[in-house]
Formats: sequence, C-alpha cells, structure tokens
Amino acid sequence: MAVTLNELKKNLGETVRARVPLAPYTNFKIGGPAKYLFEARQSEDLVKAVQVANEFKLPFLVLGGASNVLVADKGFTGLVVLVRNSQLKVEGTRVTADAGVKLSFLVQQTVAAGLSGLEPLVAVPGTVGGAVYGNAGIPQVPKGFIGDWVESVSVCREDKIILLKRAECGFAYRQSGFKQTNDVILSATLELQRGDASKSQELIKKYIAARKGQPYHKPSSGCIFMNVPITNADEVRQKFAGEEKLEQFLLRGQLPSSWLIDRAGLKGRTIGGIQVSPDHANYLVNVGNGTAEQVMEMISFIKQQVRDKFGIQLSEEVRYIGF
Ligand SMILES: Cc1cc2nc3c(=O)[nH]c(=O)nc-3n(C[C@H](O)[C@H](O)[C@H](O)COP(=O)(O)OP(=O)(O)OC[C@H]3O[C@@H](n4cnc5c(N)ncnc54)[C@H](O)[C@@H]3O)c2cc1C
Repeated sequence: MAVTLNELKKNLGETVRARVPLAPYTNFKIGGPAKYLFEARQSEDLVKAVQVANEFKLPFLVLGGASNVLVADKGFTGLVVLVRNSQLKVEGTRVTADAGVKLSFLVQQTVAAGLSGLEPLVAVPGTVGGAVYGNAGIPQVPKGFIGDWVESVSVCREDKIILLKRAECGFAYRQSGFKQTNDVILSATLELQRGDASKSQELIKKYIAARKGQPYHKPSSGCIFMNVPITNADEVRQKFAGEEKLEQFLLRGQLPSSWLIDRAGLKGRTIGGIQVSPDHANYLVNVGNGTAEQVMEMISFIKQQVRDKFGIQLSEEVRYIGF
C-alpha cells in the first residue's frame, strides 16, 4: 500500500509536505508538484530519507540547487529531498564540503583560507552534490572541473555509507559514475593547492566578468546541450572551412553547442514562453510562463535543425525529471 504523509512525518519529522510545486525551487521556474517534499538539513537526515524511501518503496529524487534539471509539468510522483546539509571543513590543503554547500560559497571560503584551484567554479550555480554528479566546471581552463580536485566522495548507497576514491567516480566531461547509480552524495573531499588570495580574487573577478554576455540571471537551466567532441578533425575542417574560431575549437577538441545553434540561425527563436537566448544560443530562457512541454519541443526542434544543417547530433546536458 502507498505510504501516507502521516507515515512519512512519523519517520522524517513534521517538515515533510505533500503536493509541493517544484517550479519555485528550480532555476528554470518550471515543474509540477512533488508528491512529497523534505528538506535534509544534516547528512543524517539525508541518509534517513533514503532509507525511508527505500523501505516504503517510494521513488526518490535528490535536488541541490535545481539549476541543471527540467522537471515535468506533471511533477514527480515520489519523495523529493532537497539537499541542504552545509558543513565545510578545511584542514591544510584538504577541504571536506557537504553536498548541500553552495559552490560559490565553497570557492570564497577556500580562497579565504589561502587555497586555490576552485576559482573557475565561482559562477557555476548549484551545490557541491550537483556539481560532483555532473562534474561541473568550465572546459576553457586546465583543471576547470570539480572532478579534477576530488580526492574522495562519501555516498549513501541503499542504506550504507561508502567512501569512493576519485578513480572510482568515473569523472569525464559533464560525466560521472553517479549518473549510472542511485547513490546519494553526502559530501566530497577535495585536495587543493596553496595559493595567493589576492591573485585568486583577481581570477574570481575574471570568471564572474566572463558571464556578462550570458543570460545568467534569467530563468534557465544553463547550457541545455553538451559541447560536441571533435573525433575527426579533417572532417570538421572541411565542414566549417573559413570559420574564424575553428582552430580554437580544434585545439580544445570540442565544438561549442552555442556556436552550432547560432550558426543554425536559431537565436531568439521562441516556442510559447521558451526562447533560445539571443545572448547565448545554448541557453533556453523561460521568458514567461514557459512549460516543460515547450522546452521539450524546443530541444527537439534545435536537435533536428542542427542535425539537418551540419549532420551533428546534440546531446542534452540537462537532467529530465518525472518524464
Ligand atoms: C546560469 C547557469 C549557468 C551555468 N553554468 C554552468 C557551467 O559553467 N558549468 C557547469 O558545469 N554547469 C553550469 N550550469 C549547470 C549547473 O549549475 C551545474 O550543473 C550544477 O553543478 C548543478 O548543481 P545543482 O546543485 O543545481 O544540481 P541539481 O540541478 O539540483 O541536480 C542536477 C542533478 O544532480 C543530482 N544531484 C544533485 N545533488 C545530488 C546529490 N547530493 N547526490 C546525488 N545526486 C545529486 C540531481 O538528482 C540531478 O540529477 C549552469 C546553470 C545555470 C542555471
């Protein structure tokens, strides 16, 4: 028999709520209700929520900053756990941060402690857990991804707490092994390097300034597609001969999806309340009452256009929830 709100409250406390709209929690401002919602303020609450969901055979979903998700208009028929644990410990060059710590806060704290390495992450919204899950970062700089600095990750798997070494996390561009498991990330330990706080602050200013041309403060899920790995340089040279930035892309080994979508002439294209940003073509912006259905329609339209024009298949970076 399906678990009731009262049973969940008995197990997780009075703060569990039923039929909670998820749109206000997401950066996209899109998404229907969670059947149940619980905020985990401590790692113990997070573990308990996973155990209770498993015990009652209730599907569960953890969300950090909800900055990289598209929640279906019909919502999620299970328990949504908002990860809000927030412990942060610095010991020498080693930093252990709870999954719920915001990335921007983590960067500022590590810089204040005289440590360097995480500056490229300063303007990536979301939490440590979400960042580890998707190996967040920027490809333009060496060691620009969180996975580059991870020493170990503590996870809750079924009802056990396990410590995974970096080599067991499967980090790659926008990838980690966590995308294939149901592990819930509790915290991550990062090994940073000693730095110079004033130089780090300069870098931080630079990374924040680099966002100026992006629709950073508008409702979106950031980049909707992953960049495209270049597997055959000759073919790419032939296809895009004469393009100004081509050598730069070849050097980086990736074609930016924003560039392809722009070249396909899709900037500014609108479906309902969803628009391909005129400022950065890989951002879909909710310009007013956009729905998940419209985002899906736009994603499929963009993929078809880019495939027809360039023979290139785009892959989504955003995680679909409740579809
Ligand atoms: C304006 C904007 C700019 C962005 N720029 C960048 C960028 O430069 N580089 C980049 O990499 N990303 C970028 N993003 C995407 C996003 O911010 C990152 O992917 C971020 O790391 C997601 O973290 P989150 O806490 O919001 O994750 P969420 O969106 O909450 O979750 C994303 C996925 O991670 C899972 N997850 C979250 N927490 C946990 C946990 N504790 N345990 C297990 N799974 C978990 C969720 O279930 C979900 O599947 C941007 C997004 C926006 C809106």
